[in-house]
Amino acid sequence: MKTLITEDQLRAGIRSFAEKIQQHYQGRPLTLVGVMVGSIMLLADLIRFLDLPMRIEIVQARTQPHGLRSGPLVLNGDVLASSILNRHVLVVDDIFDTGRTLWDLIPQIDDLGPISVRIAVLLQKEGRREVPLKPDFTAFTIPNEFVVGYGLDYCDKYRNLPYIAALEPQEMEEAEGKSAAP
Ligand code: 5GP
Ligand code: MG
Repeated sequence: MKTLITEDQLRAGIRSFAEKIQQHYQGRPLTLVGVMVGSIMLLADLIRFLDLPMRIEIVQARTQPHGLRSGPLVLNGDVLASSILNRHVLVVDDIFDTGRTLWDLIPQIDDLGPISVRIAVLLQKEGRREVPLKPDFTAFTIPNEFVVGYGLDYCDKYRNLPYIAALEPQEMEEAEGKSAAP
């Protein structure tokens, strides 16, 4: 496993990312929509760092086995609608890879009548974007490697790491084997 972003770098990067978001919204009420589960740590840190009236909602991206690609999104219907109508919305996700997850999600949020919708991601992978959509706030840009830690898993492992690491192919095979055991 190779550390890409150390715990100290992560903390400093997220702090300045949160400051940019804070400056952008200038104290206006905001709804944070966390795309579960990978963004759970980032969402918790943003809640700590942002000094704004905030409403928190979550949506669930159904991930295919081994977490390589997110499938259709399941929205929390009525609750979500009332937190989006006539409000500024910031969608919080772990990684912008191809962008397809957010490309599916953003129109669903737009349909609920927000004042504005912006996207904040912890990580963006270089050279992978497949849709005409870009995050408005990105904490770190990383090379095209499979990463884990700070809420990001592989086969249910590594979410607890306090830093971001890239997995070697052999480690991915090992994690797959372990997750198959009862
Ligand atoms: P996209 O739809 O942008 O291609 O993929 C985004 C989703 O795929 C992320 O929110 C994440 O759940 C998953 N994903 C993409 N790359 C990685 C990665 O390197 N590590 C992990 N753990 N998940 C990833
Ligand atoms: Mg995700």
